[in-house]
Amino acid sequence: MDCIFCKIIKKEIPAAPILENDQLIAVKDINPQAPVHILIIPKKHYATLLDCKDKMLFGEMLSMANEVAKKLGVHEKGFRLAINTNHEGGQTVLHLHIHLLAGRPLSGVLG
Ligand code: AMP
Ligand code: ZN
Repeated sequence: MDCIFCKIIKKEIPAAPILENDQLIAVKDINPQAPVHILIIPKKHYATLLDCKDKMLFGEMLSMANEVAKKLGVHEKGFRLAINTNHEGGQTVLHLHIHLLAGRPLSGVLG
């Protein structure tokens, strides 16, 4: 499958994971929108949030977001998570992922 995140997961594209376990990988976004911009990506390919019915995996994804925030030391000042879904949600890579943004005041659509 021609999926950029699947290629990262298979190590066909080099990426330095911030954290990794058997289900998930967390990597730096190539085009960061904040000083800290990490993607938390399930190793199993789901095109969008709508395609994943695995509630345990959803929990694991949020848990890894907490771990990433703590590891990078942004947990006390704060951070934002986003899951862009489909076209008007701003999704450009059709492989489920959470954005973790931090390192500056995050203003915008959600204020
Ligand atoms: P979205 O627009 O929500 O689908 O987010 C996709 C994100 O993937 C964007 O923020 C891109 O900058 C990021 N991205 C695309 N290719 C790569 C890559 N090879 N490594 C890291 N991040 C990437
Ligand atoms: Zn994929």
